[in-house]
Amino acid sequence: MSCQQHSLKTWNTFSLDACANKISVAESAEALCQFWQQSTNQNEPVLLLGEGSNVLFLDDFSGQVIINRIKGIRVSETADAWSLHVGAGENWHQLVETSLEQGLSGLENLALIPGCAGSAPIQNIGAYGVELDRVCEYVDIVSLADGVQQRLTAAECQFGYRDSIFKHQYRDGYAIIAVGLRLAKIWQPVLSYGDLRNLDTLTVTPREVFNAVCQMRRSKLPDPKVTGNAGSFFKNPLVSAEVAAKLQAEYPHIPHYPQVSGDVKLAAGWLIDQCDLKGFHMGGAAVHAQQALVLINANEATGQDIVNLARTVRQRVAEKFNVWLEPEVRFIAAQGETDAVEVIA
Ligand code: NAP
Repeated sequence: MSCQQHSLKTWNTFSLDACANKISVAESAEALCQFWQQSTNQNEPVLLLGEGSNVLFLDDFSGQVIINRIKGIRVSETADAWSLHVGAGENWHQLVETSLEQGLSGLENLALIPGCAGSAPIQNIGAYGVELDRVCEYVDIVSLADGVQQRLTAAECQFGYRDSIFKHQYRDGYAIIAVGLRLAKIWQPVLSYGDLRNLDTLTVTPREVFNAVCQMRRSKLPDPKVTGNAGSFFKNPLVSAEVAAKLQAEYPHIPHYPQVSGDVKLAAGWLIDQCDLKGFHMGGAAVHAQQALVLINANEATGQDIVNLARTVRQRVAEKFNVWLEPEVRFIAAQGETDAVEVIA
């Protein structure tokens, strides 16, 4: 089968021109299981995708890619909250907009994050001070080998910084089929980040927060429909308080955010920017000129171009700050997901 027939270009937001042996779209849990079992029975690799907004294809994929398109949103209410049961294949940003239009608030800080609702729990998406775990009540999954469905409470999802049980125990052989969200009827705005701090805490509305978040994102982040990218390429590094103090002594303006754990979060984008890498090109890949944390497909990049650039960025940051960045994006090799740190080490 030729790459033209099964191109993954429109199925990954990096717009990399990789291909797969087969691409199947599943609209139900049963279809997900059926497609998955076809592949495993034939001993071929299989990969589940939502909108491909956090993956980097290193090669052509030697198997079947299954696109999760389970749709449907059900809303119910209790005295103090709205409950949303959301099909995994619903688009995340549309969900944020629709809920806001219906007067349900709580998702506005998470506007314009690319991807599907069902992908959101995997890396516990977060932006502007809100992470999914703040609103997530449960996640429904299916065991692909036998079709058994199971509901995990938010606590069972083991959410962490860009992390959850879906990157570990439930990474292989399971699919997320729905997400349950709980939005409190008494709205508590989160205004601690960026331009949100300029909003009036007494009069602010969810719509104003939504608009401000959209404006900030649009001004800094490339639209994947125009320029291929997968959002933040690296995680913000966590360092010990001692390391942070040493860095602060040398770089007094270094952004640093102490965590409850005692560690200190650094801003990966700032570290990269200090290495003068904004706009830096390698092959068809580049560091985004407005936001150094985003690597872009500037000109028909291959997965290898992005890898080479990521390796260079990581080395330059380590040479200057002795801090090693780790990718947030998941690396997909021909046979399946592979260790991203090892690839760029
Ligand atoms: P920014 O405002 O330039 O800030 C740089 C980093 O500093 C952010 O990553 C953020 O960490 C941290 N930060 C800023 N203000 C903070 C505060 N008041 N308290 C604690 N930490 C703070 O960031 P940006 O690149 O424009 O992104 C804005 C938000 O959107 C961030 O929350 C970012 O995570 C999110 N975002 C995520 C992606 C993705 O692909 N995952 C892509 C774009 C933006 P945190 O990242 O921990 O919030």
